[in-house]
Amino acid sequence: MGGNFMSIKYKKISSSVIPNAVVEFRGNEKAYVLDALESTWISSVGKYVEMFERQFAQYHRVANAVTVSNGTCALHLALQALKIGHGDEVIVPNFTFAATANAVFHSGATPVLVDSYSDHWNIDPDEIVKVISSRTKAIIPVHLYGQPCDMEKILNIAKKNNLYVIEDAAEAHGAEICGRKVGSLGHIGCFSFYANKIITSGEGGMCITNTPELANRMCMLRDHGMNPQKRYWNDEVGFNYRMTNITAAIGLAQLEFIDEIIALRKMKADLYRELLEACPGVRLIMPAPFGRSVDWLQCVYFESEHFDQPNTIEDFILKLKKAGIDARRTFYPLDAMPPYVVCRRSGDLKNSHWFSSHGVALPLYPLLTEEEIHYIVSTVKAFLKEL
Ligand SMILES: *Cc1c(COP(=O)(O)O)cnc(C)c1O
Repeated sequence: MGGNFMSIKYKKISSSVIPNAVVEFRGNEKAYVLDALESTWISSVGKYVEMFERQFAQYHRVANAVTVSNGTCALHLALQALKIGHGDEVIVPNFTFAATANAVFHSGATPVLVDSYSDHWNIDPDEIVKVISSRTKAIIPVHLYGQPCDMEKILNIAKKNNLYVIEDAAEAHGAEICGRKVGSLGHIGCFSFYANKIITSGEGGMCITNTPELANRMCMLRDHGMNPQKRYWNDEVGFNYRMTNITAAIGLAQLEFIDEIIALRKMKADLYRELLEACPGVRLIMPAPFGRSVDWLQCVYFESEHFDQPNTIEDFILKLKKAGIDARRTFYPLDAMPPYVVCRRSGDLKNSHWFSSHGVALPLYPLLTEEEIHYIVSTVKAFLKEL
């Protein structure tokens, strides 16, 4: 292995692994959590839940925000609020984190899988049109790795075909299309605050909407389906999808610094892009033309046909790990995994397969240093030469 490192210009300073993601508390996280504890309001009633919802809605310039336990609950709650269930179909991208499709299954509906563009990993609107049937009720575009989908086309398709649009913005807090934040363009937008997302609350999620009836329904359903005017009286079978006041305290403190966090992530990603742009055999997904993206993980794609072999990317990631870099593969295409084999799909889904087997998600977080980025890039370049 020693020989591998001869061509690496930059040396790593510390012997520890560069993690894929690192959480940083740069604001009031500790103060708010302590305050929540001292108030003894530690379940889902409390001022931090209300403040987090109000400020998240303001940030997205929408009328309503509803906190939930996590991003998957957010998607499921959105589907339930729109009364999507058995016998219905919901269009999802084939290239996404599995939670998007799992939430559809939990609702009783079935996901229909749609391919990515050939030059961009997000869902291809021209492929959406091909799978719409009389059973289709909704589209869930996913703003993957912080890149906005072509919402103008997707919203037009939805309008023409009388479909709901639920945006999965779990990886794209703060991304914009024509000055509007992603998540605020469809009927409901869903977010996750898992530890590695743009901002975090530990576990946590949010649904946003401009339709008060939908917001009220989501509040009722997340609280067991209880009638808000009549305690212990249930009009529907609901869920316990509530967020705790302690969780909301962390989320609120993170939200106060979101623009700074996004700017720091962009600075790091810009350096990656600068160093990798002219690198032969490397394809960067440049910021989408549909809006202002945010930088979640730094995805890099390798053109070499070596990566057509499914094991090449795994071996590459293992080598990076041995060099002290925690890179991740990008998501597996849904249709390749057992639970989703049954799903109807648009064609051969070959673009999503290409993206899945040719790419890595490199570390990206506000505390990542320039030296670390130089080291990561020179290591990647050296390993590419050895293929
Ligand atoms: C993280 C994520 C989710 C699920 O969020 P959880 O909070 O982990 O439940 C859903 N969709 C996408 C695209 C995600 O990245």
